[in-house]
Amino acid sequence: MNSLLLNTDGVQIPQLGFGVWQIPSGEAEQAVRTALEAGYRHIDTAAAYGNEEGVGRAVRGCGLPREKVFVTTKLWNADHGRAEEAFDESLARLGLDYVDLFLIHWPVPKQDKYVQAWGALEKIYRDGRARAIGTSNFTVKTLTRLIDETDITPSINQIELHPYLQQREMRAFHEANGILTEAWSPLGQGKGLLNDPALAVLSEKHGRTPAQIVLRWHLQLGSVVIPKSATPSRIAENIKVFDFILDTEDIAAIGALNRSRRIGPDPDTFDMT
Ligand code: NAD
Repeated sequence: MNSLLLNTDGVQIPQLGFGVWQIPSGEAEQAVRTALEAGYRHIDTAAAYGNEEGVGRAVRGCGLPREKVFVTTKLWNADHGRAEEAFDESLARLGLDYVDLFLIHWPVPKQDKYVQAWGALEKIYRDGRARAIGTSNFTVKTLTRLIDETDITPSINQIELHPYLQQREMRAFHEANGILTEAWSPLGQGKGLLNDPALAVLSEKHGRTPAQIVLRWHLQLGSVVIPKSATPSRIAENIKVFDFILDTEDIAAIGALNRSRRIGPDPDTFDMT
């Protein structure tokens, strides 16, 4: 498993993690256990997923030392004004003393409390209760404001990113500011993307599944990637992506698939609380 260095002193993040959105808490324990057994060492949850208890049970009960598993959780939109309390509630549900990464889930510009929330994340980071802090669904505008008005630059920004939404402007902005890019819905939620004829060609060429081709593309872009599956065979399949390489032509063929089309909400307007 390859790891990437966050801009936080010495903290490394396993480049491929396991996403658990839409896995109910009762099933999350088993799914995370299966993922850890398959070799994953990075789990991506959120307060809003309602499954931190199940994730925590799996992490605590898997037999691996705590420091061998990288755990991310996220601050929900309704909690921007009470981020420290919400963080403590997440830790209690996880049953952990610290998380490796704590993210603001969405900026919610209309609410305009994300700068205040970031101040609380900075305190949580300084107290050592999150080894790194970052954002999710932030745009050039909202990230620029955070960088200008606060002390710590986010270590990572988790955004919707897959071959149909390649986010070139965001990736260039992240790179220019020392922020890692993390791809959510990296498989396009498994919908039309994995049936794309261009991926079928590459799948045939490399003897890999379309999902493996897409995950390999993310890794070669330099992003952190967190595919989700509740199916053991797919959980195992999605981590077997470190033993082949896409060549320049393959990368160009996937590059040509961009449609700049979101599956998820637009961060400028998403204001669910
Ligand atoms: P994904 O792109 O990882 O797709 C998951 C779906 O793809 C599965 O439910 C399954 O139907 C299919 N799939 C998975 N592996 C497959 C395989 N090998 N072959 C064929 N089909 C396969 O979508 P996601 O769950 O939306 O995103 C992954 C993770 O990203 C989430 O679990 C969550 O942790 C994170 N996420 C974050 C945000 C955010 O706002 N920060 C939003 C959405 C998701």
